[in-house]
Amino acid sequence: MLKENTQVWLNGNLIDYKDAKIGILTHSLHYGSSVFEGIRAYKTDNGPAIFRLKEHIERLFYSAECLFMKIPFSKEELIEATKKVINTNNLKSAYVRPIVYYGDESMGLNPSSNKVHVAIIAWEWGKYLHDTVRVKFSSIKRISEQTTKVDAKIGGHYINSILATLEAKKLGFDEALLLDHEGNIAEGPGENIFFIKDKTLYTPQLGKILKGITRDSIIQIAKDLDYEVIERRISPYEISAFDSAFFLGTAAEVTPISEISGTKFNVKKVNEIKNKFFEIVAGKDKAYDFWLSYTKE
Ligand code: PMP
Repeated sequence: MLKENTQVWLNGNLIDYKDAKIGILTHSLHYGSSVFEGIRAYKTDNGPAIFRLKEHIERLFYSAECLFMKIPFSKEELIEATKKVINTNNLKSAYVRPIVYYGDESMGLNPSSNKVHVAIIAWEWGKYLHDTVRVKFSSIKRISEQTTKVDAKIGGHYINSILATLEAKKLGFDEALLLDHEGNIAEGPGENIFFIKDKTLYTPQLGKILKGITRDSIIQIAKDLDYEVIERRISPYEISAFDSAFFLGTAAEVTPISEISGTKFNVKKVNEIKNKFFEIVAGKDKAYDFWLSYTKE
């Protein structure tokens, strides 16, 4: 996927992608006992700018804590390492994937004596989804807060997302929408969701979903654009009352939804928020510059 000489940060050193290998008994490979982040850096007039880097690194540490995993680096070290990976590879824009995983010292379900490794990989990754997406309610329910820490980005959680994605694709849709175990709308496999009605935004409240950093950003942006934002339970039976819907996330950015299982939506009404988001990440609205970390500074 990446060129052999792409520089990858592994446990404190930059090495060639071709040398960044793991052992076949790596604990996290067998059980999904890893934590990770997805971060984007955008091209700006002042070089690449990483969107909300601090918040992503903080969530990485939170996810690790949920797995009783001690990251052997400080937040500041990982912030600097992320910038270094982007600069060393001369990337103008990037998708950055920090991952923390348990090594191969022992098998079994107690990894507490295994070494904790940290890698940061970056590459240019364009759009994750189409410009607009057709979505299907998934038959797979979102993981529950009764069985795991739903607000942590733990590798193993993503089996839930992968199953939902494969089902949606098999049925000819672009993306899935998962309900929570109580039957309310939760989120996409890798995206949070918002609905629009007039000048009000609705989104599922926290508790059963990933606490998306894009979600938090859109709430602030929408309020600044004079939208009212309501976080509450949303039933799948009420979606026809909304004008528009959109997915959002680091990979998906802001993606209007044209249909959810037969209910059609106005994709144009998402533009005001979407355009503002892309203006901000490109460093063109200085009021939000505090969300950007310029890699060359
Ligand atoms: N939900 C899930 C399940 C995700 O994997 C992601 C991507 N991290 C999101 C929501 C969106 O989160 P963020 O905006 O922080 O990328």
